[in-house]
Parts: sequence; C-alpha cells; structure tokens
Amino acid sequence: MLQKKILTIVGARPQFIKCAALSKEIRKHFKEIIVHTGQHYDTELSDNFFKELNIPSPDYNLNANLSIGINQIADIMLKLNIIVLHEKPDCIIVFGDTNSTAAGAIVAAKNNIKLAHIEAGMREFDKSIPEETNKLITDVLADYYFCATPTAITWLSDMGIKAHVYHTGDIMIDLIESFRNQIEANKAILNRFQIEKKQYVFATCHRAANAENKENLKQILLALSQITIPVVFTLHPRTKKAIEAFELGHLLQSKNLIICEPLGYIDTQSLIMNAKVVITDSGGVTKECYYHKVPGILTDKQTEWVETVNEGWNFQAGPNAEKIVDAYHNFKTPGFRSNVLGDGSAAHKTASILNQLLNH
Ligand code: UDP
Repeated sequence: MLQKKILTIVGARPQFIKCAALSKEIRKHFKEIIVHTGQHYDTELSDNFFKELNIPSPDYNLNANLSIGINQIADIMLKLNIIVLHEKPDCIIVFGDTNSTAAGAIVAAKNNIKLAHIEAGMREFDKSIPEETNKLITDVLADYYFCATPTAITWLSDMGIKAHVYHTGDIMIDLIESFRNQIEANKAILNRFQIEKKQYVFATCHRAANAENKENLKQILLALSQITIPVVFTLHPRTKKAIEAFELGHLLQSKNLIICEPLGYIDTQSLIMNAKVVITDSGGVTKECYYHKVPGILTDKQTEWVETVNEGWNFQAGPNAEKIVDAYHNFKTPGFRSNVLGDGSAAHKTASILNQLLNH
C-alpha cells in the first residue's frame, strides 16, 4: 500500500529537538519529508543537533536566513509553496511558534492540506511578542491540535477551538527520557567548566523581547553579574550581537561569569539537571528545569508554561535585576513535581493519533 506522506517543517533549535523525538514515531506510519527552512543555519544552532540527536537529514533546505520578521515569513512561504506543490503531502506538521511555523501554516491552509500543530494552544496574551502572532495564526488555521498542557486546551477552548484537540504532553520531555542515561553520565561538561554539582547557576537569554531591548538585556546581565557562585551563560548569537550593539560588554566582566558558545543537547541537559538554579527566558529551558526539579527564575515578562510557576518550581521575575537576584537568594523549592508535562510518551501518542486520523 502506498504510504501517506507527512511533510515536517523545522527551522529553529527547539524544533530540531522536537523533531528528533517525533520523527522516529512518524516514520512508523508515514513517509516523512523534512523541510529545513534555514531560520537557524549555523553549526552550533543547527547542524550539531542533527548529528547529536540522529535526526534524518532534511530533504529540502530553504536557506531562508537572509531576512527577519515578515520578510522571512514571506520568503519561507514562497519557497515552501513550490515544494508542497511538488510533494503533495497529506499533512503538514509544524512545531511551536516561530516564523517557520506561521509560514508553514499559511502554505498548508492555502493548499488545502491538513495542518497538525505540535505545542498548540500556548498563549502569552501580548501581540507585540513576535512568537504570539505566529502561534495565533497557526492555531486559527490548524486542523489537528497537539497540546502539551491542560492550560493550552483551555486557551484553545476559549477561542472556540474544541475539535481535534489532543492532550499528549510535551514532546521535549520524550527526548530527556530517551537520552537520560547519557545526560546523567555526562561529567565532561562539569569538568570543562570546573564546576561542581549544585554549586553553579545555568543561564540563557535569547528571546527577542529581552535580547533586542537594551534595558531588559541590561537588567538580566546586571543580575547575572551579581550572582556570587559560577554562572554558566550560553551565549545565543542574537544576544551576542545585541550585547555588542548596545555596548553592554562591561556587564560580562564578573569573575563568576563563564561565557560559552551555544552548547549541544546532552551537555545542556546535564548542566540544567546539575545546576543549583536556572535563570532563563527560553520556553524549552523553562520546561526542562521544571522537569529536572531545578528551581528556575524566568526573565521574560510572562510565561505560557503556567503550571511550572503554579507548582512553585519556576518564579516569574521578569527582566528585573533586583527581582532576579532576590529570587536567587530566596528560592524555596516545593517537595512535589507533577507529571503535568507528560511522561515521555508524547511523540508516540501524537503519531498514533495522526495514524488514526489519516490512515483509517
Ligand atoms: N539549548 C541547547 N543549548 C544551549 C541552550 C539551549 O541545546 O546552549 C536547548 C534547551 O535545552 C532546549 C532548547 O535548546 O531544549 C530551547 O531552545 P531555545 O531556547 O532556542 O528556544 P525556545 O525554547 O525559547 O523556543
């Protein structure tokens, strides 16, 4: 029997990670074509993940990395449309909330192809955040909604979206579980930075609302410079550029700051798992520190991962140096962490549901 065809769109680091978990399950039921939009194209944010996580090589690369914002969405749409017309997939899968997600959603809808949104229903209720409009566009156009949390289902329901909404759990948790042995055994990364378990902070900062706003970025760097134990800060290219452009380099002089390039997946998970505290604005890291039961101080203005805050594992400090440092000193962890993000079976559940929907 001719297998139905799924076209999966990836473009940014968290999407490679999610694709790593989902692709092997999808391929049990479908022929899969992977399109890499080229949103993230450098070795540290892209190529390394394909190798480390054993992600099948993309069938197409759109190289849509010369533009940003609406131009990038348009660029991806034009190039993707040609591939979609040629491949004629039965369903298109998009992940999360990037420009690649929104562009993929519009191309699917305009070609009357079923659209599956992984990590559907997330909301920050602020349309000035670029990711928010990407999520809204995608959820309005999607046919199948795969939700990581119960809150996402409620938010979809509030928009009147109730059909084909599935609670699968979070697909990023799957990957932690499948690499758990390597993550736990990895001592090399602690040795590299000469740090000890539970005696350092792990920090990331990359979201446009922080990295492209001088005052917010300054507040976050100021906070990191005031932490009195080692702080491993993996510098995203966008943030590196912004620090140079805003002339904030002097805030990286603290002797406790260990600045490094974007790290691989296993090294990052090991650093999160063994940290005393995590300071981040990354959606992925927000979930991962929660899952590893490490207190997280969130530096974006709001999070869509409200369960992680409500359970007390994450604290929403926002881009405010005083609040971040205060939270670092006073964080009390709860004893309990629920399984609200799932148990590592989200990819299996998602592929099985798509199999039911498309093959039966
Ligand atoms: N991550 C990584 N190396 C790093 C920083 C983050 O592998 O140096 C991983 C992180 O553990 C998570 C994912 O990248 O799995 C999150 O991606 P990102 O922060 O770029 O995007 P977001 O989750 O905010 O959309």
